[in-house]
Amino acid sequence: MSQLFNALWIEEDAAQHFQRRIIQRSIDDLPAGEVLIEVHWSSLNYKDALSATGNKGVTRHYPHTPGIDAAGIIVETQHPDWQVGDPVIVTGHDLGMNTSGGYGRYVRVPASWLVRCPENLSLQTAMLYGTAGLTAAISVYRLRQHAILPQNGEILVTGASGGVGSIGVGLLAHLGYRVVAATGKPEAKPLLERLGAHRIIGREELIDLSPRPLLKARWAGVLDTVGGDILATALKSVDYAGAVTCCGLVSAAEFATSVFPFILRGITLIGVESVEFPADERAILWTLMANEWRFPELESLMTVTDLETLNTVYIDKILHGQVQGRVVVKLA
Ligand code: NDP
Repeated sequence: MSQLFNALWIEEDAAQHFQRRIIQRSIDDLPAGEVLIEVHWSSLNYKDALSATGNKGVTRHYPHTPGIDAAGIIVETQHPDWQVGDPVIVTGHDLGMNTSGGYGRYVRVPASWLVRCPENLSLQTAMLYGTAGLTAAISVYRLRQHAILPQNGEILVTGASGGVGSIGVGLLAHLGYRVVAATGKPEAKPLLERLGAHRIIGREELIDLSPRPLLKARWAGVLDTVGGDILATALKSVDYAGAVTCCGLVSAAEFATSVFPFILRGITLIGVESVEFPADERAILWTLMANEWRFPELESLMTVTDLETLNTVYIDKILHGQVQGRVVVKLA
């Protein structure tokens, strides 16, 4: 199939400055892979903005088309498990990092990266979840595996108005947890209330830089998306046998802690990784997200955009922590 398609294109010049624009690419130039997908929807994650602005920790080689999420229809397949016409979701693996990603109308990927889109989930809603939704779902799944249940007490969600945070708030509230949403955006209050947050607190309330090894036990569990001092303080504030999930670094990658919360309160720090998350558990979570875990206010998190406005508006907005909820990108 030698066809041209629109894609976001990031180029690096000799002075290591990065330019981005929408160009026409050829399907022939996509990397080798077993399955060619016509992408209908993609989404915006913080990591996409890093890739789109030249972050070599995410994307080593440019020129490049970002987009770590894609949902679409198979148009060519060399793998017996997959047929032309199958609706599929790809998130993580190398998509949009060093493999041409979902900000182009076509992607070609290994079959092992595919998840069948559950029957009652549209491709658009799959991208409303996207990597952010999967990451929130993994975080909740891990908290439950650590026996953090609604009756244990309040659960703190940090970065609550962002992609992972807002889906985390909606999902936990739907599952019956009492959620305390921490945000830096006073204007996000109505959204967080609608999602079912029991209380909303300012981000700055969560930072304690004192040398005290433990603080008053406030949380049965924490879904942290920001890292840094907020994560460090959360570890000191979790109740006996509580658990904290850690997936992100928008505040900072480093944090200072001590052994005391671990050895005096028996708490657990759980790393959350969505990129190589095992295929069998991934499929279970997507089925839950399409059914029992789908919360009523999910759709209200959605901002729909196209490649052009993604490029001119939303990539910069997410880098500045100004996106509420999820931005989904219409390709087809
Ligand atoms: P978003 O940008 O959508 O959300 C991040 C939120 O964090 C913001 O909306 C804001 O929420 C809050 N925030 C922004 N800046 C700061 C700051 N300086 N200090 C404290 N809080 C801040 O990002 P995502 O939800 O897509 O991703 C969140 C994090 O999770 C990122 O670091 C991302 O890289 C990571 N991630 C990791 C994955 C994994 O597999 N481990 C997968 C997906 C994401 P508010 O104003 O409400 O506080």
